[in-house]
Amino acid sequence: MNPEPAPSETDPYPDTRAGRDAWILARRTGIDRTVGLDPWRPSHWLRETEPDPLGGQARILTVFLTNRECPWRCLMCDLWRHTLEETVPLGAVPAQVRIAREEDRLRASEPPRWLKLYNAGSFFDHRAIPREDLPGIARQARDFGRLVVECHPGLVRDTTVLPFREALGAGTTLELALGLETAHPGVLERLNKGVDLGGFRRAAEWTRNHGMDLRVFVLVRPPFLDEAEALEWACRSIDFAFDCGAQTVSLIPTRAGNGALEWLAARGQFAPPRPETLEAALAHGLGLDRGRVFADTWDLDRLEPDPVRRESLRRRLEEANRTQRMRSV
Ligand code: SF4
Repeated sequence: MNPEPAPSETDPYPDTRAGRDAWILARRTGIDRTVGLDPWRPSHWLRETEPDPLGGQARILTVFLTNRECPWRCLMCDLWRHTLEETVPLGAVPAQVRIAREEDRLRASEPPRWLKLYNAGSFFDHRAIPREDLPGIARQARDFGRLVVECHPGLVRDTTVLPFREALGAGTTLELALGLETAHPGVLERLNKGVDLGGFRRAAEWTRNHGMDLRVFVLVRPPFLDEAEALEWACRSIDFAFDCGAQTVSLIPTRAGNGALEWLAARGQFAPPRPETLEAALAHGLGLDRGRVFADTWDLDRLEPDPVRRESLRRRLEEANRTQRMRSV
């Protein structure tokens, strides 16, 4: 039997899952992974604050774990660039958490109240975070009031999540962060995430029914939408996330950087959102008063090239994130 021909530079974006996987992988050519990742050290860590649902601001230690690449092939994802191709050794991930905590303790005067463990994939993907290491991670996370981990909706189920939930104990709220990406059914299919709106809703309901909190990631202007559609579908996606029981929605401006989005951009099928679209989506979400809504501010230079306007945008977004109010202009 002849092997499938490799996708060529001129191939349009395919309609099948297998075709899309191959097409997306082929667009990675020439894009490097981060070099020098050490399986025994976190990729990096930082301090953040977020408004606590009970009032005040929660100090958060956010640790970006070094681990194996996510097995899904989402069209917009560039997180694989910061991952390894092999599963890390047993004991490595608990060691990474320990190192981040020790280094944080040396630098910060006040201890963090919450812990985020982000792994550029799914915390409950056992090839990324070995199952045997989950009890050791849970023991460390018990020192925090809340643990936030990210997970593909397809991995949210009894056998993956509940043993960890039990090991964590009742004193720590477990918050699952799930990527909805968009409530636009056709675009969601083309993002190649391997989940539809029904599957997302079931994962969200499972999360809430098992006493866990739910954070939802929404993309602002995924591919295949113009600017007006992008705002409409960002708002509809926020509504859908809250309908599914989310307490927190995080808005992520879609960014190029993985080869696939550059290819689509060159053909008029992708552009990053304008800053005003991100702000309008944030204003919509905050105006609902159904939960916390944040706008991601990590890559604003890709949205706003002008440094003065970018700093002004950053200040407005950070203030809205902190106060959960948009300043009227
Ligand atoms: S599930 Fe998340 S980490 Fe995995 S490819 Fe998709 S966006 Fe990237």
